[in-house]
Amino acid sequence: MSNDIFQGYKGGALDVLKKYKVRVWGTTKVDTTRGTFEGTVLPRAENDDDQHIVVKIATGYNIGIDIRTIHSMKETGYKKANYKIPEKEFPYTKGLPKVKLFGTGGTIASRLDYRTGAVIPAFSPGELYGAVPELADICNLETEKVFAVFSENMGPRQYIALAKAIGKEIENGVDGIVIGHGTDTLHHTGAALTFMCQNLPVPVVLVGSQRSSDRPSSDAALNLMHAMKAAGESDIAEVMVCMFGPTSDEYGLLHKGTRVRKMHSSYRSTFRTIGDTPLARISRKEIVPIKKNYNKRRQDKAVKILPYFSDKVSMLYYYPHMHPDVLDAMVEKGYEGIIIVGTGLGHVNKELYPAIERAQKKGVHMYMTLQTLWGYTHMFVYDTGRDMMARGIVPAGNMLPEVAWVKLSWILGQTKDPAKVKEMMLDPVNDEITLREPYNGYLVYQGGVPEVEEFVRNVHK
Ligand code: ASP
Repeated sequence: MSNDIFQGYKGGALDVLKKYKVRVWGTTKVDTTRGTFEGTVLPRAENDDDQHIVVKIATGYNIGIDIRTIHSMKETGYKKANYKIPEKEFPYTKGLPKVKLFGTGGTIASRLDYRTGAVIPAFSPGELYGAVPELADICNLETEKVFAVFSENMGPRQYIALAKAIGKEIENGVDGIVIGHGTDTLHHTGAALTFMCQNLPVPVVLVGSQRSSDRPSSDAALNLMHAMKAAGESDIAEVMVCMFGPTSDEYGLLHKGTRVRKMHSSYRSTFRTIGDTPLARISRKEIVPIKKNYNKRRQDKAVKILPYFSDKVSMLYYYPHMHPDVLDAMVEKGYEGIIIVGTGLGHVNKELYPAIERAQKKGVHMYMTLQTLWGYTHMFVYDTGRDMMARGIVPAGNMLPEVAWVKLSWILGQTKDPAKVKEMMLDPVNDEITLREPYNGYLVYQGGVPEVEEFVRNVHK
């Protein structure tokens, strides 16, 4: 067999494939010391090692099988995959809303790269329409690829570029904006854009997918359809995240950019609104508001773009017996703002106090958020809380830790005046601090069955 049918395999792994006459794209049964695996042998990238054979198993996941564990392999079939999506020009339909899609990367913009077997960011408008033709029934779409990164690589530069791009599109008169984005840090970007793009006249909808479009269980197409509908039709002019609601594809949910969080590493319904109820439920047929108060769509273009961000803000996730040198190191390295993620109502141990005092003397802005995610900081209840407030730590209510990190970064990009910083931190732009949380809401999200009925009654009354 010639080497080009073993795309990318070399060394020991290549020898194993040759020995058992199994080709790349061959369906195979592999007997190993860890059991039997069945799936399709995928190509390998240039820089990959020569000790593993990568197999796409029925669930859609790629697994690497260590060749030292292999007893035998057998090719049971062969089907060369064609992951190229046909490109088609997106049609224009008079009367449909004009939606702009910004692509930033992530799984939603990915397909399996047949050269390397890896899931890579790829994005083109024609491909999108070729893959999800239903989009043409929802809106007139324009697309622009702004970045092609997995979302762990998003940061201030990208937030600022996106905020400016949103401002320009609103100026151009779009009816709504969708941003395709990796899911891992979708909630950080949701918060950043909420602070940077204020007084929005149209919806800005962030969307991702947990499973790439080469997998049968992919959520990419449905999430995109929902997001386009939300951007084009809904009258909620806010920065939102649109993703699967329940684990099935029954409906999607629209979450506020400041109250949403990725809560599961693999579920498609990973995004949950924390400390509040989602904004609305969305299906291909309708958008049903859950919250009554939201910023309504307007005809003017008076958006305020505030593209500021300091990269001198850090986060300290407290653990028992944390030593003060951790905090000292942040201050020594020049961090001007620190979001502490404390235990319970907002606590850290006494051992940290001297370091907190040193940070306070240096004028470091310190805010307390909670590991519990649900609930409020209450720093008057115990001595610990009072001690920390006396050392300059400000409780941030029920602001989520990541949101507090984004907000303090955004503020310190504009002012260093402690009074002004505090005033801005505690004055919500869009519900990042709320007056109260829905009664027993957290139980519902954690599956507290007897409470569900009562909760639903209260929300809809
Ligand atoms: N790591 C990917 C990202 O956040 C995962 C995803 O897109 O879901 O970009």
